[in-house]
Amino acid sequence: MPTRVHITVDTEFSIAGAFRDPQAHQPVGPPSVYCHIGGRSEGLGHLLDTLEAHGLRGTFYVETLNTCFFGDEPMGAIAREIAARGHDMQLHLHPCWTYFEHEDWPERLAHDPPNDDVTRRSVEELVALIERGRATFRRWGLPAPTVLRTGGLKVGLNVYRAMRQAGMEVASNIGLAIYRPAEPELQLLVGCHDIDGVLEFPVTTYSDFRWGGRTHYKTLTITGTSWPEMRRLLTQARDQGLSDVVVLTHPFEFIKHRDREYRELHVDRITRGRLERLCRFVSSEPGLEPVCTGELVGMSQPTSSAVHSLQVPAPYALARMLINRLNHSALGGS
Ligand SMILES: [Zn+2]
Repeated sequence: MPTRVHITVDTEFSIAGAFRDPQAHQPVGPPSVYCHIGGRSEGLGHLLDTLEAHGLRGTFYVETLNTCFFGDEPMGAIAREIAARGHDMQLHLHPCWTYFEHEDWPERLAHDPPNDDVTRRSVEELVALIERGRATFRRWGLPAPTVLRTGGLKVGLNVYRAMRQAGMEVASNIGLAIYRPAEPELQLLVGCHDIDGVLEFPVTTYSDFRWGGRTHYKTLTITGTSWPEMRRLLTQARDQGLSDVVVLTHPFEFIKHRDREYRELHVDRITRGRLERLCRFVSSEPGLEPVCTGELVGMSQPTSSAVHSLQVPAPYALARMLINRLNHSALGGS
């Protein structure tokens, strides 16, 4: 069996400091997704073009609760555009956006701050949020989403209970180095797992070095992981017969911005190079099979061992830290 590779894209708007200082900042909508430079979309547009140039489809987790602030459009227009290009459209939920339903939200910040943490919501509240997401997809004219990714990869067993109640059976909610769930059975690194009847495909987490007797982990993103690391992880997964590798990215990972308003943007050549190489490798390397997570809904899957793990050698991690540090300090992307 080839190793399936899921390229997943969290497509969302930015709160942009509005909760910290509502007088000075406002949420940012489409500019934070399209990331226009000189009339070209160097965020979403570049990502779609690159995937399609290699014959790949991405799994786009589209955030729906931003409609509490922005209304149905403009995310509806973005979602329809991605869907029209043939990609997999799934559900992403950041509950913090529901805060804007309080008319007095700027005054409320001081005594009842917003919370984006799904582990602090009841099963009933989560079922209602999933239903709202489905209703939003319906109003957008899109088929119902069948896979969930929670905001910030925050997750607890309550989320799977809610998913089961709502009849949503596939998830990609876990990314251990980004958020470590309290429940040991959710501390999953890679592969495909059955959690009380919900199939979970964690965003791949790997170990990169040991420090003071502890293993350091990193979750696989385009911004965070270098190309030599990605290639190593993909070939290792294939050679070990691992079922799935899940990569996480966002449209804004391909530009650099100094201001929260996404006005002063520059192309990020490092991350673009990683995306290009990843797409080329996944579409041509024997033993790897590019997939959309939504394609696997309703299919029975052999599940992975919970102790399965991927590693890169420490020198790879050191080289990547240096490159990422230099890239983030060198705004302008040369
Ligand atoms: Zn998100």
